[in-house]
Amino acid sequence: MNHDNKKQLCKTEWENICEQCGRCCYEKYDYRGKVFYTDKPCQYLDTQTNLCTIYHQRLTLYPECAHLTPELVQAGILPDDCPYVKNQK
Ligand code: SF4
Repeated sequence: MNHDNKKQLCKTEWENICEQCGRCCYEKYDYRGKVFYTDKPCQYLDTQTNLCTIYHQRLTLYPECAHLTPELVQAGILPDDCPYVKNQK
């Protein structure tokens, strides 16, 4: 999938790419330009279901949550086997 195709995805199509594994909802840090994940989940992640408990209000209730965009995917913070990452290759 190239960048132009991603732009044309509707919001539902874009969100449906997510496999809801929850891995990107764990704290991470950048060390010398490489992103490392910790084992500490976001306070709003239900670790049983791997779903966000405030998903539809997350951007207002928890502004630190990054809105997933094609630009953010390209920034390299998601796991390599995340479907958003695999689809951009
Ligand atoms: S790592 Fe990718 S597939 Fe998993 S929850 Fe995050 S965006 Fe969805």
